[in-house]
Amino acid sequence: MTVLEHALAYARRGCPVFPLHGSAADGSCTCRLRGACPNAGKHPWGDRWQTHATTDAAQIRRWWTHHPDMNLGAVTGAPSGNIVLDVDPAKGGDESLRELERVHGALPETVIVLTGGGGRHLEFQHPGTPVPNSVGILGPGLDVRGDGGFVVGVGSRHRSGRRYVYEVTADPDTVVRAVAPPWLLECMRTGRVPACRSMAPRWCFAMASAISGCSSTARRCAATAGARR
Ligand SMILES: [Zn+2]
Repeated sequence: MTVLEHALAYARRGCPVFPLHGSAADGSCTCRLRGACPNAGKHPWGDRWQTHATTDAAQIRRWWTHHPDMNLGAVTGAPSGNIVLDVDPAKGGDESLRELERVHGALPETVIVLTGGGGRHLEFQHPGTPVPNSVGILGPGLDVRGDGGFVVGVGSRHRSGRRYVYEVTADPDTVVRAVAPPWLLECMRTGRVPACRSMAPRWCFAMASAISGCSSTARRCAATAGARR
């Protein structure tokens, strides 16, 4: 499928899309910085993407017919009904997620996008109340794309040359985008380890040590618990 076809598919599922700068064959960005762009193929093509993002098929066709090399930005948050947990193994995201699941239970089966850089986007249904964007709050290598955010969409070319694709058994035609577990939503919203508040101080301390990820708040919580002892 072309980027245009993917963009139209996003729009049919109700997700507004908009153009991002593309990544050329040599990995350089199509913006004026070219090879010096630190965010190649991942940043908006225009400066008002929030107002330009659309599900209008005619507009989407115009964009990608005239600029087929542009990547695809997919809006997250309430407008698309989608929130994304961005797992970056290069920054420890796999370990952070494994630890969260060990403590709170496995995440439900859901739609997964494999990014061209070795990471993955786990998609969840927007809960209907605000979910902020965050970097590293849930743990190193775990970012959240929620209200006011976007992700690089399927079909886009990563600077590595690889395309963003759905995981074979986790595409939107095969699985339903899951409801995020309450603990995950709470952590996304507050940066706190939910279990922390209901636990005995010693447990809390152990938890905070174990989850260096849900980090600063958990450590503060642990420090407070320690002070109480
Ligand atoms: Zn650029």
